[in-house]
Amino acid sequence: MDEFTRTLLFDSAVIAQRVAELGAHISAKYPQGDVLFIGILKGSFIFLADLARAVSVECKIDFAKISSYGNSTESSGVLNVIMDVGQDVKGRNVILVDDIVDTGLTLSEYRKRVEALQPKTVETIALIDKTGRREKHVELDYYGFRIESGFVVGYGLDCDERFRNLPGIYVLS
Ligand code: 5GP
Repeated sequence: MDEFTRTLLFDSAVIAQRVAELGAHISAKYPQGDVLFIGILKGSFIFLADLARAVSVECKIDFAKISSYGNSTESSGVLNVIMDVGQDVKGRNVILVDDIVDTGLTLSEYRKRVEALQPKTVETIALIDKTGRREKHVELDYYGFRIESGFVVGYGLDCDERFRNLPGIYVLS
């Protein structure tokens, strides 16, 4: 028996359409290519896999693994980076790829860390912009979908490591 009820928010066709649009925007913005995507693990792995294939210009891909804050009210700015980006960032057009922006702490703090590595430009993209609990302003250059609240899973997003493999995005209740 499953203790969760899952309600479909965005099915795989809607996601594919949106990811194609995002890929086209990014390709138009960087016609010269030379984009370094840095996916924030684990939640971004499916989004970035699809986004990278929707981009028609040359790009490179890397990942960073950052643990969630234990207590979201703690805005100490301490970032627990488990695995940092492995490629040289200096002088590159970096796009940070996150699964979901909630309080904004993770992306805003990791962005500062990447900016210190002297990239040429830094942009951010999130599959989902969840606006209702924002604590730190995040400059999101692109987002897939915007929701106000709710805990979402699927398409890479988990609940205690479950549901990442669902092709759609669901809200749990
Ligand atoms: P932040 O609060 O720092 O913006 O979000 C940090 C992380 O919390 C996200 O990258 C994501 O891993 C997790 N998170 C926040 N909201 C949700 C949600 O609705 N569903 C899932 N699966 N993870 C979430």
